[in-house]
Amino acid sequence: MDFEIPPEYEQLKRSVRDFLLSELEPISRRLDEEQAFPLDVHRKAGKLGFIGAHLPEEYGGGGDLFAKSVIYEENCRVNLGYNVSVNASDLLFANNVARHGNPEQKKKYLPPIISGEKIGCWAITEPEAGSDALSLKTTATPCDGGWVVNGSKTFITNAPIADFFIVQARLPGTSGADGGIAFILDRGVPGLSTGPKMDKLGVRCSPTAQIFMEEMRAGPEHVLGTPGEGLRQALGSLDVERSLSPFSSIGVAQACLDASARYALERKQFGKPIAKFQLIQEKLAEMAADLDVARHYCRRVVWMVTQGIKVTKEAAIAKLFASRMVSRVTTEAIQIHGGYGLMKEYNVERYFRDARILEIGAGTTEIQKIVIAREVLKEYE
Ligand SMILES: Cc1cc2nc3c(=O)[nH]c(=O)nc-3n(C[C@H](O)[C@H](O)[C@H](O)COP(=O)(O)OP(=O)(O)OC[C@H]3O[C@@H](n4cnc5c(N)ncnc54)[C@H](O)[C@@H]3O)c2cc1C
Repeated sequence: MDFEIPPEYEQLKRSVRDFLLSELEPISRRLDEEQAFPLDVHRKAGKLGFIGAHLPEEYGGGGDLFAKSVIYEENCRVNLGYNVSVNASDLLFANNVARHGNPEQKKKYLPPIISGEKIGCWAITEPEAGSDALSLKTTATPCDGGWVVNGSKTFITNAPIADFFIVQARLPGTSGADGGIAFILDRGVPGLSTGPKMDKLGVRCSPTAQIFMEEMRAGPEHVLGTPGEGLRQALGSLDVERSLSPFSSIGVAQACLDASARYALERKQFGKPIAKFQLIQEKLAEMAADLDVARHYCRRVVWMVTQGIKVTKEAAIAKLFASRMVSRVTTEAIQIHGGYGLMKEYNVERYFRDARILEIGAGTTEIQKIVIAREVLKEYE
């Protein structure tokens, strides 16, 4: 099996990179300082076909998960924060619509997400339900003509700018994976509101906020999938998201290696480029080895998903390895840059801050270990 990028994807990779280097890279520092999402860049990316490459072709997507992984990595190589928001819109939101939506919902929501005109978000996390997401307390109480929803969500990517929302709730008297119900909603629905943008350490151009549901009325047309099955449906969609999320770490690590190797060749101390020192070479070698191993393993997991193979263990291994790898790589990138590594003029400072989300979002490092151990033990029971 060959997990190199097939030649037909090289052109895509170059086009995405050229686009991002000319449109996103020059404004990334300002976006970080101002915590601003680059909506214009996103809309242009949509016109170029760089959003929703994995989504069904009949709604404007590319139907190609491998293409999505290539775009995903390139986005993160330039600006992880931007990709965190793209991911919430075209994966967390749109992939759930593609998998569980009825024909009207797919027709209404998928094309504007893929074109970049509209932004989606997906909300399960609550103030008291993070890693233990199934302990969520937002309730959907049946009433005449539908449900009344009450509760709140936190840390929701895109909540401040989203046009569309998927919100997970539960039916009264249920617990665990039972009784979940997902609602798909447009901004402006009475009873649905969002909090102010949260001030963050990293991925600052990706807006994050709370969502509040207060006596929010939802009808059958707002339900995504089957009432009572919302949480199982959400968990069932995770394989695609989990297979792609490690490419965030790979993109950031590649950016660190690019910046660090160039810097080591330019920066002179003791009369020669620091790249001549074996202790610096060792850091670059470790970075390159870490990156290559992660990239090949993660491509294998994407390939497994395209073959319909269950990847619960493999996706958790990919996420665990890649996110710890990028923590090491971002730390070494700062070290290679010395004092300049702490300065805003150098991108490694932003990469270091941005990468902190990668061991926390989409399941923490600790939760990945729990998943892997559970799957390993099943093989021996
Ligand atoms: C920038 C950002 C964007 C996000 N975007 C979204 C989004 O779009 N939608 C959404 O629904 N959520 C989103 N989240 C939420 C994210 O998924 C959660 O932050 C994550 O699942 C962890 O939950 P928590 O923060 O409550 O941490 P906690 O669950 O409270 O964990 C705290 C610590 O305890 C550890 N821990 C927890 N349980 C165990 C255990 N059983 N064994 C060992 N250790 C354990 C954790 O690993 C962690 O180290 C986002 C978060 C951030 C920071």
